[in-house]
Amino acid sequence: MSFNKFYLHNKILANIASQGYTEPTPIQAQSIQPIMDGKDVMGLAQTGTGKTAAFVLPILQRLIREPKKNVRALIIAPTRELTEQTNKVIAQLGQRTGVKGLSIYGGVNIRSQITALKKGANIITACPGRLLDHINRGTIDVSQVDVLVLDEADHMFDMGFLPDIKKIVANLPSKRQTLMFSATMPKDIRILADKVLTDPVTVKIGHIAPVSSVCHSFYPVGTDRKNDLLKNILKNHDIGPVLVFTRTKIRAKLVAQHLDRSGYEATALHGNLTQNNRRKALEGFGRGKYKILVATDVAARGIDVQGVSHVINYDIPDTVDAYTHRIGRTGRASETGDAFTFVTGSDNGPASSIKRILGDRLKHCVLEEFTSRASSDESQIQKDRNNRQRNNARTGKKNCSKFHLKPKVKHINRQGGRPS
Ligand code: AMP
Repeated sequence: MSFNKFYLHNKILANIASQGYTEPTPIQAQSIQPIMDGKDVMGLAQTGTGKTAAFVLPILQRLIREPKKNVRALIIAPTRELTEQTNKVIAQLGQRTGVKGLSIYGGVNIRSQITALKKGANIITACPGRLLDHINRGTIDVSQVDVLVLDEADHMFDMGFLPDIKKIVANLPSKRQTLMFSATMPKDIRILADKVLTDPVTVKIGHIAPVSSVCHSFYPVGTDRKNDLLKNILKNHDIGPVLVFTRTKIRAKLVAQHLDRSGYEATALHGNLTQNNRRKALEGFGRGKYKILVATDVAARGIDVQGVSHVINYDIPDTVDAYTHRIGRTGRASETGDAFTFVTGSDNGPASSIKRILGDRLKHCVLEEFTSRASSDESQIQKDRNNRQRNNARTGKKNCSKFHLKPKVKHINRQGGRPS
């Protein structure tokens, strides 16, 4: 299938080609046409599937036909990084179309945003808080908005943005097209969808589970051996850009400092940094100045750095959703990637949920020297080990610790190709 079938404007098609996209991803194949037909769409797609272009392309097509100076499309997203990322996609796919994008978010001076808004923009990508601030000040005119996109709706809900979103929606024209994208569909998102969408087309891409182009491994570890295990992995694997996730901001900072002192090009990304330093960290990682970015969940949401080879969960995420989003930073579009998760004896709850979702796709990699220290973890590790040995004996599978002697892990069940 090619993009030609959507009869997009030639300039847009040229921009698609210049991005190297040869065919639509599944979410694009299924949602571009209904969006171009003016339908409301509920897109259930995990991150990394190409969902941004799925809504950006039809918006560009609509606006290129009716060029006007005012705000015509509003994309609401949970984090600053995601708004910038989406705005970048708009700039890339909208080159030479005359359609102007602008991202607005908090944590930076509002004045420059007011100036930029006065100059005029057609597609605003915004975080809810700052957008509401502009609406309340009267510094943005949303009365001409034709299209509203709620991106990563489940995360906006998790982050407590629902009341702000409701207030924003109340300020928009009721006659509009609304598109909602979410990796998961908890009850509150369903309620929101019922409220804001009219007779929507639902597009669901595969099972809501971590992307299939990623190879997943659990590494049992003593809590006090995580830094050593991390360095061992970095040393023994053929590693490109790596994203390391920690649970807290302070941990992100300390792990990055530790790696830096150990001779790695590492930096941290977390909510305690100023917006300028967040941008520097992200740009430095994107440009290859830093090979390792140690981040917290919120700060890392929406990051799209080409070719992230490994996502390492230094601290296991609390939920499967959080796992899905973290590992969605690798294996994006048609690339493949590895997701390594450090599991301590006290991580039983989240580890079991992730195991359930991944099933056979999950590898257990035991490096004995890193599991032995923390006595509190010992009994669980031993239990896990016994279970694994019993399972391996039953299925004939080998423990994959041997792989680590090789420079690059080649997992036997890596599923290449396009994510489902
Ligand atoms: P997203 O899920 O929107 O964050 O997109 C994930 C990645 O897929 C980004 O790096 C996009 O540039 C890339 N991408 C989007 N659409 C396509 C496509 N049709 N072919 C190849 N890559 C794509």
